[in-house]
Amino acid sequence: MQTTVIPGFPRSTTDAPRYAEAQLSHLRRQIPPLYALLAVNAAALAFTHRHLAPALLTLQVPAVLIAACLARMLVWALPTKRPVAGPVDAVARLRRITPLALAMAVSFVTWALVLDRYGGPYEHGHVAIFISITVLGCVFCLGYLPRAALMVCTSVVGIFLAYNLWKGTEVLIAVAFNVALVTAVILKVLRDSFDGFLQLQASQEALQSERTAAERLNDENARLARTDALTQLPNRRLFMAELEQRLAQADAIERVSVGLLDLDGFKPINDTYGHGQGDRLLTALGERLRAVASDRVMVARLGGDEFGVIVRGDAYAAAAEGERLCDLLRQPVVLGEVTVAVGCSAGFATFPDAGRSAHELFDRADFALYHAKANQRGGCVIFSPRLEQLVRGEQALEAALQSAPLEQEFSVVFQPVFDTATLEIVGVEALARWESPTLGKVAPDQFFPVAERLGITRPLTLALFGKVLAAGAELPRSMRISFNLSPVDLVDRTTIDLMLERLEESAVDPRRLVFELTENALVTDLTAAVEAMHRLKAIGIRLALDDFGTGYSSLSSLHQMPFDILKVDRSFAARLSDHVGRRLVAAIRGVGRSLSMRCVMEGIETETQLIEARLSGFELAQGYHLSRPMTLEDLTQMVRARQAAA
Ligand code: C2E
Ligand code: CA
Ligand code: CA
Repeated sequence: MQTTVIPGFPRSTTDAPRYAEAQLSHLRRQIPPLYALLAVNAAALAFTHRHLAPALLTLQVPAVLIAACLARMLVWALPTKRPVAGPVDAVARLRRITPLALAMAVSFVTWALVLDRYGGPYEHGHVAIFISITVLGCVFCLGYLPRAALMVCTSVVGIFLAYNLWKGTEVLIAVAFNVALVTAVILKVLRDSFDGFLQLQASQEALQSERTAAERLNDENARLARTDALTQLPNRRLFMAELEQRLAQADAIERVSVGLLDLDGFKPINDTYGHGQGDRLLTALGERLRAVASDRVMVARLGGDEFGVIVRGDAYAAAAEGERLCDLLRQPVVLGEVTVAVGCSAGFATFPDAGRSAHELFDRADFALYHAKANQRGGCVIFSPRLEQLVRGEQALEAALQSAPLEQEFSVVFQPVFDTATLEIVGVEALARWESPTLGKVAPDQFFPVAERLGITRPLTLALFGKVLAAGAELPRSMRISFNLSPVDLVDRTTIDLMLERLEESAVDPRRLVFELTENALVTDLTAAVEAMHRLKAIGIRLALDDFGTGYSSLSSLHQMPFDILKVDRSFAARLSDHVGRRLVAAIRGVGRSLSMRCVMEGIETETQLIEARLSGFELAQGYHLSRPMTLEDLTQMVRARQAAA
């Protein structure tokens, strides 16, 4: 048999403790028949000599030997009381077999040769056959322990050969040599097949370790496919799978809440310090979230700056958890030389109140988040039936807005802006109006955020701007026209390009135009906003900062912005009646003056407010007391009437 030797491949039992257990289990099957063979053959030999040899040799001695055989046979055949405790134990057990086998072999061969002194040629023949056949049989049974087989063979065959050379006939000497030769060949064959056994074990072991490595790789791949690479948090896929599973397991009394967390102000950090720092920030926040994740709270990164949470618990538990996580994310993060901080808003939906399927809950949590972002920035909103109504209304609004023919359903009205000293109309502010056939009149405060969400601000703005330009041609040239520009429009190059194109095609002088911007535009993308502002200024359009005093007014950076006009929010007009409010308004006016901006007081609803505004130094004012927003026709009529009266 051709055997290839594997490097480091063991040649003997003692070298290969890791195969000793396999050897032992093979031997367990082969040693009992060995003893059975020995016992039966010994009984047969004793039987043929029963009348020839003394009873000691045909009864007592064989009885002891056979009893020993049967005892050993039982030890091997019966289920073991003490199972093999690892390879070392197996080796120790194997080691004990060889001396025992040797002792048995020598005892039997000695007994047989003593018996050989009795009887004639037939009996001598029987002894020779007993020894040779038995030794061959035993050697086969010891195939898995070559060392024991070799010891048994050399001792038995050696003694047999020596005995015959000393005492035997020519025939018996020949038989002894014959047996020696056959045994040698059989030993060689056994050795080879034992090598084959070892090799098989080795290749099985190699196969097993390859399989284990492949499984490990598989596990690792599966883990990676479910982990977000940046934060090491579970990713969206695992999050959704986990959510489905928890919902499937949730019973009637259990509550499971799904939350979405979204960072506020992550984009400016990303834009200012670069994506590398943005990634580092997310990694640091991910680490914080990982530290608080538990059996009860699972946190995942869903993408961008959005995180998902699954909380085992009702809406109260979810709200508490949401606040805790938002607080955690709001803590400042040190990124090398800079320290940054982001805000965080959260939306939650609870099973089964807010929905039963993962998809439903996710959508509702998303809506709650949207609501938080729009109305309660930095807060945690739980989806509720009231919110649901809002959703329905919002959805109806979305549907109507999406299919609305903008040119027909939208229009603009104009609210005059007055000089507080002369009460002359110096300009008008264009305000959008929507009359939907299904929903009726919808206020711009309602539909602009929806248009932004739907991404249809550009066509809407262009349609409105077209109408304003057309109106501008009909209004006196001295009259300023203010147009409200949403933050999305300002930072969108294409929108600005198209607006300027329309403006060029119209008869309206750009210097008559004022674009009103809110601070949101500056918060979203400062660089793009400032760039667009300079483009507009370059062709003579004036810029007004709208709703001043309501936003996160970055007074420090206000002087860097090319604003010409400050429009103080109408909530301040109402405060003109009290002492503190008046001082506040005067202070605001001071800021405007120091930055050389003209100031408009919005929302003047009473004569007193108008007087107070004038006294506080506001040269311009706007409000229902002075004039409500009106159609172009009404406006031109009013202008004509005032001109006629003058
Ligand atoms: P805004 O730019 O601050 O516009 C002034 C709002 O105050 C107008 O509401 C106007 O009708 C209202 N107003 C004027 N005087 C008074 C007053 O004395 N008392 C009170 N309580 N309110 C007064 P309107 O038309 O509902 O517009 C709301 C907001 O929608 C606007 O606030 C503006 O942010 C936005 N918007 C309106 N038209 C447009 C538009 O064409 N484009 C964009 N992007 N936004 C627009
Ligand atoms: Ca405005
Ligand atoms: Ca305003």
